[in-house]
Amino acid sequence: MILDQELSITFINQWLDNAFIHPYPLQDKKLLEVFPELADQRIHQCIQQALEQGLPSILSPGLNQAPLPLCHKCNCIHDNGEQSVFAQMIRIQPMEQNDQRYCMLEIQDVSTMMRREKLLNEQAEKLNRMALTDELTGIANRRHFNGLLEKAVNQTIQQNQPMSLIFFDIDFFKPFNDNLGHQAGDQCLARITRQLSSELESSGFHLARYGGEEFCIIMPDTEPEQASRMAECYRNHVEQLSISHPASKISDVVTASFGVAGFRAGQTDTFTGLILKADNALYRAKTSGRNRVVLSGKT
Ligand code: GH3
Ligand code: MG
Ligand code: MG
Repeated sequence: MILDQELSITFINQWLDNAFIHPYPLQDKKLLEVFPELADQRIHQCIQQALEQGLPSILSPGLNQAPLPLCHKCNCIHDNGEQSVFAQMIRIQPMEQNDQRYCMLEIQDVSTMMRREKLLNEQAEKLNRMALTDELTGIANRRHFNGLLEKAVNQTIQQNQPMSLIFFDIDFFKPFNDNLGHQAGDQCLARITRQLSSELESSGFHLARYGGEEFCIIMPDTEPEQASRMAECYRNHVEQLSISHPASKISDVVTASFGVAGFRAGQTDTFTGLILKADNALYRAKTSGRNRVVLSGKT
């Protein structure tokens, strides 16, 4: 459409005239008389800039999705009777003819593009989530664990806090699978992680699957002694689930062994050192009888 200096619509094409949410043709009408709500909006300022200073501009849908009240006539009525405007890209171009300044508004319906972009963003988000989530248990996977641990270690160093890491592993899980089948094994892992993730939900700790039937809990801002006490609770809760284990050499039910290690700002060993210490503590929990918690550095 083309506007003159009084903001009268000197030309409007049929598509645009049809798209305006308005009952009669807009040719020769004054834009602000028909749509007073546009006064002082960004689109009005840009039109004025084009008419007074000859400056062109573009209104992209990123900042303001729909500067003008335009809709698709066929499907724009909502259940509540309201009409929905479509996303627009508007190019505002100054023009001159017979010493008169005009301003041309070129309006593009970008609703399909915006919908496609939204869909692509949603898909990318979903893929991102999938790449960081363990399929069987729904908790963080090894890749996510690496990122979370790195973040926690950096935060520990920056804020001069303690942090702890727990590794735990199901006891005699191979015989469990051999006896009850792989599917029962899968269900057992899912039950244990469901129980622990609901316990950890509001704690700021992160539960992750390190691999196979080995899991870890990252505990920012936590002294290792406190982490060790919490590990004892988690160990107890796994046992309390009372998942029958006919092939365990130490219990009638499924149990797990826990290794705990701490890290402090200023310590020389970081990321890998912390994992190694927690893993060694877990190994000691296994070799000293299983179904127990061992804190790294403690005899
Ligand atoms: P330990 O008490 O020393 O930990 O003995 P274990 O039998 O648990 O240890 P081991 O590492 O020998 O066996 C781990 C078993 O865990 C072997 C593998 O079949 C099973 N496992 C690993 N991942 C999965 C899984 O996703 N589902 C099922 N059902 N089993 C798994
Ligand atoms: Mg095991
Ligand atoms: Mg294992």
